Amino acid sequence: MTALQSSTESTITVRNPATGAVSGTVPIDDPETVAAKAAELVQAQPEWEALGPTGRKRWMLKWQGWILDNADRITEVLMSETGKSHVDASLEPVATGDAIAYWATHAKEFLADRHPKAHSPIYRVKRFTTAYRPYPLVGVITPWNFPFAMPGLDVPPALAAGAAVLLKPSEVTPLSAVEFVRGWAEIGAPSVLGLTTGYGATGQAVIEHADFLQFTGSTATGRKVAVACAQRLIPYGLELGGKDPAIVLADADLDRAANGIAWGGLFNSGQVCVSVERIYVEAPVYDEFVAKLAARVGEVRQGPDGDTGAMATDAQRDIVAQHVDDATAAGARVLTGGKPTGVGTFFAPTVLADVNPSMTCMTEETFGPTLPVIKVADENEAIRLANDSPYGLSATVWTGDSRRGERLARRLEVGAVNVNDALVNVFCPGLPMGGWKQSGIGYRAGGPSGIIKYCRQQAITAPRLPTQKSELLWYPATKRGMAIALAFMRMFSARGRRRFGLRPRNG
Ligand code: NDP
Repeated sequence: MTALQSSTESTITVRNPATGAVSGTVPIDDPETVAAKAAELVQAQPEWEALGPTGRKRWMLKWQGWILDNADRITEVLMSETGKSHVDASLEPVATGDAIAYWATHAKEFLADRHPKAHSPIYRVKRFTTAYRPYPLVGVITPWNFPFAMPGLDVPPALAAGAAVLLKPSEVTPLSAVEFVRGWAEIGAPSVLGLTTGYGATGQAVIEHADFLQFTGSTATGRKVAVACAQRLIPYGLELGGKDPAIVLADADLDRAANGIAWGGLFNSGQVCVSVERIYVEAPVYDEFVAKLAARVGEVRQGPDGDTGAMATDAQRDIVAQHVDDATAAGARVLTGGKPTGVGTFFAPTVLADVNPSMTCMTEETFGPTLPVIKVADENEAIRLANDSPYGLSATVWTGDSRRGERLARRLEVGAVNVNDALVNVFCPGLPMGGWKQSGIGYRAGGPSGIIKYCRQQAITAPRLPTQKSELLWYPATKRGMAIALAFMRMFSARGRRRFGLRPRNG
């Protein structure tokens, strides 16, 4: 619980971190309430699955329409519980609408039965099918940084797959999730999307009832979630923290690099898992790049009508201040920003120069509007330092030669690389999004795999030809039957005449 939240026995009071004003309240669901909600969803799920992808698409596109029609109000709700600027908040409902349309319209194609070819002629008498059946109940647990768009990334593919979904948003920002689920109910859709609110214990209760758990949040909580899922033997996906590097090469367009990195690091006040959090610049362009970056960042306006907003919590603002203070105490220079503004939870957009790799601003997730920069000798040093992190979410490379950027991408130990751009992969559901190393397990999106992950795969074999009364390997076992079966298996798989079994063993 944060300083801006207060709890009575049964409710959470949500406040605007930028102003301290009360924005709303939500109930704290106890484990029994979560169990009852889960049971209702599971009961409604078979009918939802039976609608098929085309029937589900109808409801999902209606829901998308509701979200787009109510985008202004949703934006206000988002601002009221996060302190985001209007520009940052307004992206969330529209990006969610985009994702819903993608999953709704592609589900039929992605969920279609596959008919793999037999690997050996022996099995060509069979028809093979891989069918996809949804997990009945998918639990989705989300953090506070994108309270509408984060459910918007993970809930639509699960619904499109035919699963029911129980959503548990962060205690800090539950009001946007209320809107997310309200839309589904207001269009009169089947009762397969539920909401449960509360603290970590409510999240734990969701895990108790889910058949698949999709979690987005910190690496520390993700580890606890993985243990709880392992105890229940349910599959899970974890989208966790990051410390994304940006590499600026000497041949880069430095204006674009400075503009892109400023946006990639400050969007949503840097409270983005894939924010640019550390920058490595080749020595020949270091001074020029740093000057351009500091100038760009120095012009960023904060506030509801500005470019970017407040931090979502006091605690988050204090982490950012701590990282900046640690860096300056160890010799880093603040080129712009460097302090809380003194209003609400705002922290001034900050550029730090003369940073070294061991400072906490380079090793730990800051999750704030800071851009620490390091000078490197060449691309090899940049890659080495970029990879020297327990995190592996994503990275950016800035170069005048995009082929070179793509080559460098393959040397980076991260789940996504944007060349001469930032964050763009997140908005493209055809691409997989997932962290390597301690940044996650599994992937969201990624075309067909983004929806199939919410399904159990079922292998079906059936005869293509009229069948015999018995088969070679069935009882009674005979030496001759076994010899024929093994000879055929060897013939179609082994290399070398001797291994075909056509010559005697000792021959
Ligand atoms: P947390 O890990 O603190 O919380 C995430 C969610 O888990 C919240 O809903 C929280 O509820 C819930 N929770 C807490 N304890 C438990 C538990 N024991 N069992 C089940 N659920 C629990 O993350 P934050 O909300 O602080 O979010 C910031 C983090 O999210 C950053 O590390 C960021 O990098 C990461 N993130 C990763 C993304 C990705 O795609 N890789 C995208 C966005 C953010 P409550 O809030 O009520 O405690």
